[in-house]
Amino acid sequence: MSLIVQKYGGTSMGSPERIREVARRVARFVDEGHKLVVVPSAMAGETNRLLGLARELNPDASARELDVIASTGEQVSIGLLSIALHKLGVKAKSYTGWQVPILTDNAFSKARILAIEERKMREDLDDGHVVIVAGFQGIDDDNNITTLGRGGSDTTGVALAAALKADECQIYTDVDGVYTADPRIVPEARRLDTITFEEMLEAASLGSKVLQIRSVEFAGKYQVKLRVLSSFTDVTSTDMGTLITFEEEDMEQAIISNVAHNRDEAKITVLGVPDRPGIAFAILGPIAQANIDVDMIIQNASTDGMTDFSFTVHRSEYQRAMKILESKVKPDIKARGVQGDDHIAKVSLVGIGMRTHAGIAARMFEALAKEGINIQMISTSEIKTSVVVDEKYMELAVRVLHKTFELDKPPLKETMKP
Ligand code: ADP
Ligand code: ASP
Ligand code: MG
Repeated sequence: MSLIVQKYGGTSMGSPERIREVARRVARFVDEGHKLVVVPSAMAGETNRLLGLARELNPDASARELDVIASTGEQVSIGLLSIALHKLGVKAKSYTGWQVPILTDNAFSKARILAIEERKMREDLDDGHVVIVAGFQGIDDDNNITTLGRGGSDTTGVALAAALKADECQIYTDVDGVYTADPRIVPEARRLDTITFEEMLEAASLGSKVLQIRSVEFAGKYQVKLRVLSSFTDVTSTDMGTLITFEEEDMEQAIISNVAHNRDEAKITVLGVPDRPGIAFAILGPIAQANIDVDMIIQNASTDGMTDFSFTVHRSEYQRAMKILESKVKPDIKARGVQGDDHIAKVSLVGIGMRTHAGIAARMFEALAKEGINIQMISTSEIKTSVVVDEKYMELAVRVLHKTFELDKPPLKETMKP
């Protein structure tokens, strides 16, 4: 008998029929003798609908109230799943985040989980119940409802698995695992049976929304056994999906594991800034103070003591960042101007084999050049190379790179040998 945490995404919970299917799958695991904690997301489209309603009433709605509104999607899901299980004769009890409670900080719309009280869940599990916990939400120490950022139910699932020391955390979604690229963009993408934790962490941070980045961080910190599987296979299916592994290296590992993409960023350039100590701080300090995360940063070589300074931010924070730069930073440092572009995309190659193989980036740039795709920014780390391109070339870039690095083919055993 194992303790398993299962998380079901929005499409998996998308209709009464889908919820019935989820209930059947949960019932199967219960029949096999496992203890289950289940974390559903809101029904597909529901979180967007709720946030849309709020914005219609007030485009500047406060983050606190947006979290009150957005968290209700998951509350409906836990109740529906619970009654679907009762109908199958399975004992089940639902909890919202605050009922558990799942304690978070007070960063509305992107709160972090700080602690989870497991007492009630343990009692219910010992009593033979399936425990159903709303994904994506928690409560801060002032009793405010918080949400964990889009895709945050993944993090609820993994955090619960860590707190309860579950044997496994299973993330059920609308694809049957982690692929070499988003299968919606690259039909030839190949399902990976395993992916290393490091590669998954990079892929998630570079935009592969199959797992929210914080869920992968949690899995790493607490060594949670984490699997991505499909909720659309037959409920009796024994398909194992993709396992996130913690082994350092695997000799059969490909040099490149996957191509990730992200269209959630915007690029900002501060033009004509004096090239002197403290300038990066003068530009990015006020941005950080406004709690806006910065991703890529580039400072050009200076001519005549002047330079341009570019960086990217999340698209949802683009307008706010532009305002700060125009009203405060530009006059303070006497910059020539501020330019922005919110139609960019980031495309990245991820693979631990990059550590030992030179020339990957050059091949990447060559492949993009052959298609006439202009690279606006580049950033590299040990196991990834990312480029920023015009958004309209994003899908082409992903397909070209997938083809160039032959990710549709299983890797050769020899590939990791020096
Ligand atoms: P859920 O609602 O179940 O949380 P998401 O839409 O958040 O599902 O994540 C699953 C989606 O992630 C897939 O439908 C797929 O389009 C996308 N995706 C992006 N990159 C990958 C990848 N490398 N492998 C698998 N799916 C990916
Ligand atoms: N319902 C939330 C969202 O749409 C959380 C999730 O699905 O993981 O982002
Ligand atoms: Mg998701």
